[in-house]
Amino acid sequence: MTANIQLGGHPDLGESVGVTYSRSITFIPTYSCVFACGYCAFARPTPLAGLEEAAACFIRGVQAGCHEVLIMSGEGVMAFPSIRQQLTQWGFQDYNDYLSAVCRLALDHGLLPHINIGNQSELDFRRLRPFCASMGMMLETTSVALMRHPAHRHAPGKHPQARLATLAAAGRVRVPFTTGLLVGIGETWADRQAALSAVATLHRQYGHIQEVIIQPFTPHPRTAMAAYPGPDLSTLVKTVRMARDTLPPDVVIQIPPNLTPSAEARRQLLLAGARDFGGISPEPDHINPDEPWLSPEHYAAELAEWGFVLHLRLPVYPRFQTPQWLSPTVYPYVCAKSATVTNGGNGLQEQASGVVPRSQPG
Ligand code: SF4
Repeated sequence: MTANIQLGGHPDLGESVGVTYSRSITFIPTYSCVFACGYCAFARPTPLAGLEEAAACFIRGVQAGCHEVLIMSGEGVMAFPSIRQQLTQWGFQDYNDYLSAVCRLALDHGLLPHINIGNQSELDFRRLRPFCASMGMMLETTSVALMRHPAHRHAPGKHPQARLATLAAAGRVRVPFTTGLLVGIGETWADRQAALSAVATLHRQYGHIQEVIIQPFTPHPRTAMAAYPGPDLSTLVKTVRMARDTLPPDVVIQIPPNLTPSAEARRQLLLAGARDFGGISPEPDHINPDEPWLSPEHYAAELAEWGFVLHLRLPVYPRFQTPQWLSPTVYPYVCAKSATVTNGGNGLQEQASGVVPRSQPG
């Protein structure tokens, strides 16, 4: 048995050495956020995008072969008076009411909505779940010390208690969920272990964590942490190994391939146990605009060199594609989409699986 197989296959692909990704476009309702994380190049006050703008994005996504739309914004959107005014003018009760309409529009256009808008209460989840396939929020870290560090000094919503409460609320409401660690923002190895252990505990309780992203901190110009170095490859490899050792086997480890720009880095992270590339968009990454994705075909060819097979997936993993995990509104859309993907949505997943890996862990 090869070392790769010992690290485990993908839980939804049996023991083949498959790596999954989602063909996804991103819709940003607004870049406004009440917080100011020291590494953030995303947040800035902008008006809310109208439904026509959303529809135009969805049409671009469908034309580019996407199955998912990631709907993403900063936190505390309702704190902005101009946005509250816009919502009232458009006849929405609040931001979640607007998001529900955006999700319904996405479903009508043929995209499955995945929402990532930061901390949410149980009531928020109950209101949004009927219209989305899955949701996500980066835990980032469970380090309280970072609340006094440039990373989170001006972001009270990044307090670990608030993040863990959100993860638990998602579990109680049975929302298929993605979370992750942001690596290199000042946390220690003990912090990384504690954050992974906290996710593992919540997943054992609720069973709702689909995947955990191991995302490297990337310094951006004109941010408080512009001069901080990003984590080196050995740190990321060790974190992926730690994640694989800590998390239950049905939780997939994701690495964003555009943030590990060297092919060798991607190979090492896969050999350490990562099995998912996340959303690959035909448009630029809104969080890291200087780090473009390569095409799925490029990644597929690269993976084949190493004995892995790239498989297309939906934002909701196969074991969550049930009426227990999805609302009566979303379930039929997911079933229809699942049939499309299984029948060759992009052709990549039809390549031979179960290939014996040629590479060995470094
Ligand atoms: S909460 Fe998110 S959007 Fe807001 S400042 Fe922090 S990283 Fe940026």
